Amino acid sequence: MPTTIVWFHNDLRAHDNEALSAACARGAVVGLYVWCPDELGGRAPGAAFRWWLHHALLGLRSALEHCRVPLVLRRAPRAAPVLEQLLAATKADAVFWNKRYDPVVKERDQRLAEELRRRGIWVEEYPGFLVHEPNAVTTAGGEAYRVFTPFWRRLSTSIPPAARPRPQAATLPAHVLPSDDISAWRLLPRIPWDRGFYSTWEPTEEGALRVLDAFLRTGLEAYARKRDVLGEEGTSRLSPYLAHGQLSVRQVWHRVQQSEASSAAKQTFLRQLAWREFAYHVLVEQPSLHERSLKLEFESFPWKELPLETLQRWQRGETGIPVIDAGMRQLWATGWMHNRARMIVASWLTKNLQGHWCLGERWFWDTLVDADPANNPFGWQWVAGCGADAAPYWRVFQPVRQGVTFDADGRYVRQWVPELATLPDEFLHRPWMAPKAVLDRAGVVLGKTYPLPMVDPDESRKSALAVFQVWRNARAPSSPIG
Ligand SMILES: Cc1cc2nc3c(=O)[nH]c(=O)nc-3n(C[C@H](O)[C@H](O)[C@H](O)COP(=O)(O)OP(=O)(O)OC[C@H]3O[C@@H](n4cnc5c(N)ncnc54)[C@H](O)[C@@H]3O)c2cc1C
Repeated sequence: MPTTIVWFHNDLRAHDNEALSAACARGAVVGLYVWCPDELGGRAPGAAFRWWLHHALLGLRSALEHCRVPLVLRRAPRAAPVLEQLLAATKADAVFWNKRYDPVVKERDQRLAEELRRRGIWVEEYPGFLVHEPNAVTTAGGEAYRVFTPFWRRLSTSIPPAARPRPQAATLPAHVLPSDDISAWRLLPRIPWDRGFYSTWEPTEEGALRVLDAFLRTGLEAYARKRDVLGEEGTSRLSPYLAHGQLSVRQVWHRVQQSEASSAAKQTFLRQLAWREFAYHVLVEQPSLHERSLKLEFESFPWKELPLETLQRWQRGETGIPVIDAGMRQLWATGWMHNRARMIVASWLTKNLQGHWCLGERWFWDTLVDADPANNPFGWQWVAGCGADAAPYWRVFQPVRQGVTFDADGRYVRQWVPELATLPDEFLHRPWMAPKAVLDRAGVVLGKTYPLPMVDPDESRKSALAVFQVWRNARAPSSPIG
């Protein structure tokens, strides 16, 4: 009976997992996850992602038990020697995995696959992390799309491969290697900043399926109306499950299509999923997405060197702009931030403070449970104006107006910035405009209980646009803003 090793990475699920299904159909299967952050250099998973990973791997282990697949967990400087050991111990003749697109990992995988094949090991890479493989959705000329709308038009009419059920039980392998005790990996923080994570998330495959079911039942129809309302749970919150592969995007796609929701609701939601797909297609074309502006001219943009204190005020949610502070504190407390808030805080950092988008990308990378090698740099570049099909640089989100529009009843700010909770709606998003008597009644002392704005939103916007204009004139003297 042949034995296959299934090497897991960001596909931590038993259902609709092509590599696992193919392996189970062959005979005995051993699952492997190698924790090798050193091999990933500066792009090793951040702290919030590690928290999730710890729980996701425990969840995967029990999901695989149902299929009689033992999961070997190993920490090592590099993955290759662990694979070698496991191949020798199990006498496996094949290694299967699901394709990964993160450039650092992809390169390592390719090297390893070549080496193993050279030695006669059967190596197979399966699709499934995306709706379609990047080279399957191209322009008529066979090129990768650079603009989202035509990409979406193509994608929306495509039919993804059907999702697979959890495989039948495999034959138990005769030999495996002992597994590490995952707590020795120290993925969980020593200082307990993760309390809010436990009350917010159920970071397992079962949790993923429950969240998906609940969203299809009660969230999808209202998605278009509520998805931008900051204080509502109006979005699916599927992003961490998709980032860790606890949910198959193809399954999500089909379940949405088969749901009872209106066609408009389905399209609105699938369009957002298509942004994820688009970001991955861009990443495949531009592997340096996290460190180089897609619009290359922005490599010479005069981003400011931000003093540490300025950056820390943004990171800690002490900017003095309530909607921004609410977003940054939601991120710290739960490892997730509403999409609208992500855009507002990113615009503040890159425009009003004129900081480099990479500073924000790195902070998100460390603090998001859904930190994603494509979506995160793609989102930052989009807001900063240097990305694919991006908002132009001069589109600066006015945070007070954004707050008034997307947190009209103030629920979001009141939840995450409780020191302002009793301010009336009229001044909640601009406490510095409130008369002293109003502040007194709400117990707010600006500069003491809540900071004054670190920079004036309108003045800093003008100053950013002036810098942009000078930079652009120096490059192309005849092109005015807009
Ligand atoms: C600066 C910035 C950084 C971001 N970093 C990440 C990140 O690291 N990881 C991540 O998954 N998303 C990121 N996003 C995209 C988006 O904010 C999140 O996917 C979304 O907020 C997740 O919440 P949800 O699952 O409830 O989304 P929903 O609105 O329910 O959308 C469903 C799914 O569609 C995809 N999606 C939705 N909007 C986008 C988008 N704008 N771009 C790409 N995919 C999208 C996600 O997979 C999401 O889970 C970022 C956006 C910005 C502006």
